[in-house]
Amino acid sequence: MSLSAIKSRITAAAIANGRNPQDIVLIAVSKMQPDARVEEVLHEGQRVFGENRVQEAAGKWPRFREIFGALELHIIGPLQTNKVRQAMELAQAIHSVDRPKLVHAIARIAGEIGHCPRLFIQVNTGAEPQKAGVLPADTVALVAEARELGLPVEGLMCIPPVDEDPAPHFAMLRDLAAECGLSGLSMGMSDDFETAIAMGATHIRVGSAIFGSRA
Ligand SMILES: *Cc1c(COP(=O)(O)O)cnc(C)c1O
Repeated sequence: MSLSAIKSRITAAAIANGRNPQDIVLIAVSKMQPDARVEEVLHEGQRVFGENRVQEAAGKWPRFREIFGALELHIIGPLQTNKVRQAMELAQAIHSVDRPKLVHAIARIAGEIGHCPRLFIQVNTGAEPQKAGVLPADTVALVAEARELGLPVEGLMCIPPVDEDPAPHFAMLRDLAAECGLSGLSMGMSDDFETAIAMGATHIRVGSAIFGSRA
């Protein structure tokens, strides 16, 4: 599906739910896509992208920025503390902040480099053992800890379990964000972004529906 077709679906889903389409940021998830395909989407005018792995992002986005100018990059994959500095130098937002150790590393490095990307706290809404994210019950405390360190927490992020209806997970994230007084909701992917928009998503992360399936 093309970028413009996805944008039309976003607009339709927003309007159907009484929302302004401009309040929804489309993050084009370019992980594991061939450079030529990413360049096509850049030529179509997309300027906000998401990458899972810092290493992969560092290998391609500096060059794309030289060619296309200012681009907004969001790191959406699990983050190890030894990759935090590189992530913070490369990205405008990080969606995978999920533990106190990471929050403290980000705060320390922000002090050193003098800036910090916008942060989303990742919540493991399904409490899946293999999945990243803070448990729902620990979310309010982690948000508070990040705020006490002066970090720019913009919202919450989740990836619902693959084999479940995503709607209750999106609802849980929305309610937790409200409890924390956060307005950002990073939720919804290729298969469920319209549901996420209906439930208040402000950032949707769409990969294969834009670029095609990954190698
Ligand atoms: C890969 C990925 C996406 C995009 O997934 P698609 O199903 O290709 O849209 C979104 N969010 C995260 C965290 C991802 O890892």
